[in-house]
Amino acid sequence: FLLNCQWGPDEVWQHLPRDVQKGLIDKKARFYVINGYKVAADSGMGDRVNVVMQVCFFAISGVLPRDEAVEAIKDSIRKTYGKKGEEVVQQNFRAVDNTLANLHEVKVPASAASAIEMRPPVPAESPDFVKSVTGEIISGRGDGLPVSAFPDDGTFPSDTARWERRNIALEIPVWDPEICIQCGKCSMICPHATIRPKVFDEKQLKGAPATFKWTDARDKEWAGMKYALQVAPEDCTGCGICIEVCPVKNKKETRLKAINMAPQPPLRETEREHWEFFLRLPELDRTKIKVGSVRQQQVQRPLFEFSGACGGCGETPYLKLLSQLFGDRAIIANATGCSSIYGGNLPTTPWAINGEGRGPAWSNSLFEDNGEFGLGFRIAIDKQKEIACHLLRKMAGSIGENLARELIEANQKDEADIQEQRTRVQALKEKLRGTKTSDARALLAVADMLVKKSVWAVGGDGWAYDIGFGGLDHVFALGRNVNILVLDTEVYSNTGGQMSKATPRGAVAKFAAGGKAAAKKDLGLMAVNYGSVYVARVAMGARDEHTLRAFLEAEAFEGTS
Ligand code: SF4
Ligand code: SF4
Repeated sequence: FLLNCQWGPDEVWQHLPRDVQKGLIDKKARFYVINGYKVAADSGMGDRVNVVMQVCFFAISGVLPRDEAVEAIKDSIRKTYGKKGEEVVQQNFRAVDNTLANLHEVKVPASAASAIEMRPPVPAESPDFVKSVTGEIISGRGDGLPVSAFPDDGTFPSDTARWERRNIALEIPVWDPEICIQCGKCSMICPHATIRPKVFDEKQLKGAPATFKWTDARDKEWAGMKYALQVAPEDCTGCGICIEVCPVKNKKETRLKAINMAPQPPLRETEREHWEFFLRLPELDRTKIKVGSVRQQQVQRPLFEFSGACGGCGETPYLKLLSQLFGDRAIIANATGCSSIYGGNLPTTPWAINGEGRGPAWSNSLFEDNGEFGLGFRIAIDKQKEIACHLLRKMAGSIGENLARELIEANQKDEADIQEQRTRVQALKEKLRGTKTSDARALLAVADMLVKKSVWAVGGDGWAYDIGFGGLDHVFALGRNVNILVLDTEVYSNTGGQMSKATPRGAVAKFAAGGKAAAKKDLGLMAVNYGSVYVARVAMGARDEHTLRAFLEAEAFEGTS
């Protein structure tokens, strides 16, 4: 049993929960410990521990004689990194030697006396399903669940990633409210929705922990209100990209910014308390947020959070943005690939719901048919809306001419319009519940489709440029209102970096070891050729405001985008 942790061989035992101690004793395990992150950092490898852990495996497992294994690892390092220069090779060699010097066997005592209990897999206040199904699977006891514990139609409850506490960050960002300009860039780029701003009235601070940080809101339209930027300490991955994008330097100490990394363990308890209080602060009224400005838009609650994507993921910030802007009425078809894995890596799902219980409906079909899958959603929704409008006209006398007309003609161009339409639909449902005719029942079944739905087909370049292109082209040609979001990483990321048609000429990838011969296919140009498709190419890291505007324009466009 190998543990990568900050404690040495003499102190680690006392930090283990009793169940873990007992398990090691019962199994007569040989127990090894290494501070892998320290070894990697001291060897000049940053936080990359793959070589360190690989060396530990071969040193302990005995699958090869130790010396032979170390020699083979060094040979492989020279082969893999030789082209990157002697310095990189030597760094890796140093990591191998330092690993062997810092890998220690722990003497396992005869009895388990720890006072530390294992934390339950999910908190006690989690919903029943999360406790009885999700938590069991997280604990590795999923095999023991009866089939009857699962929803019988194949659906799975969303909004569950927030119950899982991974605590994987060694360091987390700490906010300096005095110099923060409240630009929202850190929260926009955060792949895990673990740094968030909120704007609120001072009276909402009643009951705040004494150490909770807040300041005056700077935006003129928020004059008199307060602002807080809070990190979720147990969900942050410690990737540090929020700090990279923060534009503010501390003039007194220029190595510091308006957020700075600090070790997580000493902050965990207080920041957890702050985070829980922060979540209880009310959300700002969505109809009053100017969504065209990053600063204001970023106070919208993300409905994609704490995904299992890699730390620093470059894809998830776009999905999070989608979820903030349109999540409470979004229907998402997800192609197979990275985004279907972190988007639906059960038992938890990062797609979440807001305080009113609304959130994105999400499903993953295949790699090769996701364009058609999303198009099918659109066609089904449009048909149901058509049926609803037909029934409204037919029943206008009993429903009320005005309400029926407003429901049919509603101009759902912005958040306020959509809220009004939701109120009308609610009024309609109340009227229909008192009517027992078959038309009333039929209208009740499709009434929700009168609120504008935002249909998205999402996937990577492997889907859109390559394997699913035929279907996607069909979607372009039909011009229906489907938003297509291609997360173009220029290789097949999820399967290890094989070249795709999105890989640029000359780039080295799997199946293009000598550099790709052909140029990158211009998918945007192909869509533009139809003359009826809205096309934008965006990069949040280059121009965040442009990305935001492109998302808004694409969604507002009454055709394919
Ligand atoms: S360190 Fe990474 S995961 Fe943590 S808040 Fe910053 S961007 Fe988000
Ligand atoms: S990026 Fe920096 S300045 Fe902007 S809101 Fe975040 S901490 Fe404040």
